[in-house]
Amino acid sequence: MPRVQGCITPAVRLPPIFLHISLPATLGPGHKAQDDTEFYDMSHIAYVNGRYLPHNSATVHIEDRGYQFADGVYEVALIWNGIPVDYSGHMVRLWRSMDELRMKAPMSPAAMTVVVQEVVRRNLFKTGIVYIQVNRGVAPRAHPFPSGDVKASMVVTAKAFAGSSDAMAEQGAKVVTARDIRWERRDIKSVGLLANALARQGAAEQKAYEALLVKDDGTVTEASASNAWIITADKAIVTHPTTNAILGGITRQTVMKLAKDAGYKVDERPFTLAEAKSAKEVFLTGTTTFVMPISQIDDQPVANGAAGLISLDLRKRYRNYMESLDAATAWNV
Ligand code: PMP
Repeated sequence: MPRVQGCITPAVRLPPIFLHISLPATLGPGHKAQDDTEFYDMSHIAYVNGRYLPHNSATVHIEDRGYQFADGVYEVALIWNGIPVDYSGHMVRLWRSMDELRMKAPMSPAAMTVVVQEVVRRNLFKTGIVYIQVNRGVAPRAHPFPSGDVKASMVVTAKAFAGSSDAMAEQGAKVVTARDIRWERRDIKSVGLLANALARQGAAEQKAYEALLVKDDGTVTEASASNAWIITADKAIVTHPTTNAILGGITRQTVMKLAKDAGYKVDERPFTLAEAKSAKEVFLTGTTTFVMPISQIDDQPVANGAAGLISLDLRKRYRNYMESLDAATAWNV
């Protein structure tokens, strides 16, 4: 049986089909992530347009607009010990992304939740991530939206994943910088992630956890898959406001509330790379990142090169928040 972290399978006998799934060499169980977090790329069962299918035979149409035009939106939500974290926030953002692109949802939020729960249930893990993608649908390739009643396509996958490692957080992670070359609607969680992927590849090549994205005027917008924050000498916690220049992170929203509740001063304003390099602390937030202290930007240590204490405090508060979620209401939409 595949070794899956946080998995509840030991007592469960998997049908023989699972024992014969062949995975590419790089995707086997126990694959090491860039950030040293053990995670598992194996998702057993996927939902694709009305059907639950073994992951390696789940396919989409070649004329799906998500494939041809990146005409799709997505969400990634964390399931922590069987309970989703900020699920309603993810659903609100998914609907906002669809609305902004004038995409018609394939089903209601309640129906989608039934599907998401079923995919999570069938993948037999306690802690992991669920991925939801909605594309405008299948139509002969042409740039304008298809006319008529083309139904949006929808894919849901899920896999065991422990999130960013505490060991890395205690050390603080390294980030590199990359030019922010993305389009001007970064507030939409679009699957058009090539610029993000290029930046993240640059980070991987430099053995860094993430890439800070920097505009030509020196402003740090966010990171390739997380929001960026600094803490100034006078202990103000600063992050870019939620404009079209960044993705409004769900974790950002929660961490901001936790920080304010704890009495920290939070400033939503743009900051520059120069400010980040001379900040007291720098950290990132994201669904799988949680709160990650940053101890190095390019070749330069942040402050004394250790993980910042306020960042670590916020990570702890966020962990406590995840632990405190109530199974009875966590799936409400
Ligand atoms: N910015 C970008 C570009 C992202 O891809 C993500 C991850 N979805 C985030 C920020 C963080 O958002 P969240 O906290 O909702 O995961």
